Amino acid sequence: MPVSQGASNLPLQVGPNLPGPVQDSSSTPPHTISITYLTPAQAAEPALAFPVDAEGQGGPRYDPMTGQILSGWIVIRTDPTTDPSTITGQHVLEHEAIHTLNVAHAAHGSGEIMEPALVPGASPTLGAGDRYALAVVGCTAPTS
Ligand SMILES: [Zn+2]
Repeated sequence: MPVSQGASNLPLQVGPNLPGPVQDSSSTPPHTISITYLTPAQAAEPALAFPVDAEGQGGPRYDPMTGQILSGWIVIRTDPTTDPSTITGQHVLEHEAIHTLNVAHAAHGSGEIMEPALVPGASPTLGAGDRYALAVVGCTAPTS
């Protein structure tokens, strides 16, 4: 179960395939999280402005009146590091899924999933700081 769905109690689910890369959830259906694995050619597209050193990006779209998250977007560079069948790839996906809940980065070297830089071989297990940040944004489901 994706972190965003299980931990948040929000009615979010993985959305349908979209025709192209999305870095803005305004084009995703409400209550869905769009996940796109970019091909190398897509990641290099200047219009996408995908950072050269990033494995992925993610974020929410929320109602400006209530602050409630309506949908989310995740884009991940396709390479051996981000293969979702690997522990590291799962770590990248979980990190970006937490960004869809508007949780920002933890400190470098903190050992949290939300560290800004990927630590190869690191466990995709929520750290104490990750759990704290998720609780602050209203995630009440068990996170350990
Ligand atoms: Zn990040």
